[in-house]
Formats: sequence, C-alpha cells, structure tokens
Amino acid sequence: MALKGIHHITAITGDAPGNVDFYVRVLGLRMVKKTVNFDAPDVYHLYFADESGNPGSILTFFEFPGALRGRHGSGMIHTVQWGVASAQALDFWEERLIGNGIDTARLPDRLRFEDPEGLGIELVMDPPGEPGLTASWSEVPAEFALTGFAGVRAYGRAATERGHARVDGDGHRSDSDHVLTRVLDFEPVSGDRPTYRLTSGVRRAGYSYDDPPAQPGRQGAGSVHHIAWACEPDDQPGWRDRISGARLHPTPIIDRQYFHSIYFREPSGVLFEIATIGPGFAIDEPAAHLGESLQLPPQHEHLRERLEQRLTPLTNPRLPATAATDSIS
Ligand code: ZN
Repeated sequence: MALKGIHHITAITGDAPGNVDFYVRVLGLRMVKKTVNFDAPDVYHLYFADESGNPGSILTFFEFPGALRGRHGSGMIHTVQWGVASAQALDFWEERLIGNGIDTARLPDRLRFEDPEGLGIELVMDPPGEPGLTASWSEVPAEFALTGFAGVRAYGRAATERGHARVDGDGHRSDSDHVLTRVLDFEPVSGDRPTYRLTSGVRRAGYSYDDPPAQPGRQGAGSVHHIAWACEPDDQPGWRDRISGARLHPTPIIDRQYFHSIYFREPSGVLFEIATIGPGFAIDEPAAHLGESLQLPPQHEHLRERLEQRLTPLTNPRLPATAATDSIS
C-alpha cells in the first residue's frame, strides 16, 4: 500500500473566464472537465490536466465569482510546481509568460511566477515520468510542455519544528514529520527546509514547508484549498483505517464521480485528500471531448437547466470559435 504521488491540487478562482484563458491558452493544459462544485452546485468546478486527465497532472478550481484575493498563510500551500524537461523549456516559458504580461523570476533550475490571481507557480527542471503527463496545444512545442506536477510548497509550523517531535500528553506523536513519514510513508529529503517526497507515482512528488509569514492566511482567489494524493482504489479503506488510527479524523469515503475521496488535515494545517486512481474523466463523456460541455453528477442533473442559465459563460481556447461559448438559450 503506497501513495502514488499527487492526484490533484484544488484552488479557488474568482474569475473563471480568466482562469480558463490562463491555464488552457497560456500554460497549454487541457480543460478535462467542466462540472460544478458538488457541495455547492451553483458554481463551477473546473479541471485542467494533461491530455487524458491523468492523476499527477490535475489542477482544479472552485469558482467563487468575484472572490477577493486570498492571502497565503500558515497551513496553506502557496506554490505549485510543475516539471519541464530542459533549460530550453524554461527559456521558452520565460519568454511566453512575459509576452502575456506575467512577471517572472528566473533561477538557474526554475522559473517562478504567479497566476493572474496570485497562486505561486514554479516550473522546475525535473525528469518526466512515464507517461509524460503532457497536454498538446498548438502554441506550445511538445518538448516544452509541462510534464505533470513536481510538488508543492506549503507554509507550516513544520518549518519551525524542523522535525522535532510534538508529543501529546499520552505519548502520541502529533507533528507533521511523524504523519508524513510514519503514517503516509513519505521519504524525508535532506535540505535547508523540511522536504518530503513520494517516489511510487508516475513521477516523484515533493512536499516541502517554508517558514510561515506573520500574517494569518485567508482563503480566497488564488488560494490552494487542498491537495489530493493518489491511491489504488483497493487501498483506500486501508488508508482510511491508518489515518483514523493516527487520530487524524478522516471523512468517510465520498463519491466524487471521477474518483473516491477521503479528507483530513495534516498537523501543520494543510487539507489533505486521498483520491483513487480512476474511474477517471471519461466516465461521463467521450475521452475525445473532455471538458467541452457541462457535466453534472446524477444528484445534480435535475438542476441542469437552471445552472446552464446561471453559470458564467466560458470560452475554451481549444474549441472552434463558433462552439467555444456555451449556449445559454
Ligand atoms: Zn480534491
């Protein structure tokens, strides 16, 4: 039983049209699902990924139209890292992002920038896994495409604890280092800040902590809501038992249509999910047309007419202009 790397990362947008434009047109990801927030179906849940929607490449957004900017703080992921294959790819992205009005900071092995709502992004040189987790988009040469997540960076007290045990009154370990390495089987990585990784996914996945800023965080546009780690479907009950045994109070297994999920908070405050690999995004629409039309889970299908009138119209840069905007008639 091993976690198979990152399954998906979920963040918040206040501007769904701008969000689709940035992740599909600028970064070249494919929108693989256009659905609603199952817990609040009046707003979108948008999924961007590689060409097939593979775990390890999926960034999703809950839409809260007009939401104020969030502020990254303790217990929150502040930066999402994607792999790219080469230094030439970093050169390509630096030029492309600047050409789209995005400020960038180039380091020898990475390129840093923010999405239009302030979510931190780093492109890092990192050997791609197999398959490469790339999407194909006419404006991005295949050799420069993003190759799936390399990891995330969070603010958390684990950074100040530096692996020192926190022990409850009855001798129970309750610090992030313990949960990551002993409960979830991450490997610790030596370095100047606490860093952990999973190596059994399609590609390695890093998880590291930075010293939190003094100001408390606030969820809002550009904030990461949670990160999901991937598991084999048969392993999920076992993970739930293990997490429950570690007193992390996981939710029951929840059917999310495209995967099944449990949620819990790791001790530094970051919301974790463990999501099954599969059934995947082709469960309710053809693989060739992922993300092109609004998909609703069975429990919300009766709301379709109302939702199609109320949801923000979106333009998908990949679709021909005549079909790009949702009909609301
Ligand atoms: Zn999730």
